[in-house]
Amino acid sequence: MSYRSIAIDGPSGAGKSTLARMLAQELGFLYVDTGAIYRTIGLAVLRRGWDPSDAAQVLPLLNELDIGMRYEDDGVQHMFLNGEDVTQAIRQNAVSQYTSQVSALPEVRAFLLERQRELARTHDVIMDGRDIGTVVLPQADVKIFLTASPEDRAQRRYAELKERGQEASFASVLQDVKERDARDTGRAAAPLRQAEDARRADTSGLTLEESLRLLLDIIKETLQV
Ligand code: C5P
Repeated sequence: MSYRSIAIDGPSGAGKSTLARMLAQELGFLYVDTGAIYRTIGLAVLRRGWDPSDAAQVLPLLNELDIGMRYEDDGVQHMFLNGEDVTQAIRQNAVSQYTSQVSALPEVRAFLLERQRELARTHDVIMDGRDIGTVVLPQADVKIFLTASPEDRAQRRYAELKERGQEASFASVLQDVKERDARDTGRAAAPLRQAEDARRADTSGLTLEESLRLLLDIIKETLQV
């Protein structure tokens, strides 16, 4: 039996994870948040106080890490680092910055590549990230490049952080968004870019419901479901 796959790529804060989770529930697909997997490595490096761009320090660590994923009934992908549930911990702002540096190391990307492909070989998946349509699943049935203006994305991130009671100013969140964009698109290894055969969806100014409808229309039209 062959499984279907939907790749959603785009910059941080475009709403990929929220929308992908909702779409997965609607379509009965497995949702794979690849950013959460990278973040788990970012957290491990942060906790050791290492330089996230120093391959000589980071790479030997990969073989020591036991990175687990488990899907709970609520559809949330829980991440485990050496047995500890780090689902919340990986969402801290500092982890975001560390992760975008760690994930620029080609060896880190190679380490996770097969793991992501294996999930798509064994499930109908909706997978979100930066390089899913370009590198991880170039044969995906549907490819969407989800984006929004930096200000819109920073506004959402800011609201999310506030909701979680984390301190941040809008200016610093916007600055973080722009820095991560620059790193994710500027890196040599699997940079963030729209696949040639991806449909572009811009959610600037759209509500969550409107964004969901936009993506569902693209998916249904492409998969003929
Ligand atoms: O999607 P999220 O914001 O959680 O991803 C965190 C970071 O992980 C991104 O800024 C990016 O540097 C990295 N990432 C990646 N490739 C992916 C998913 C995430 O490089 N497929």
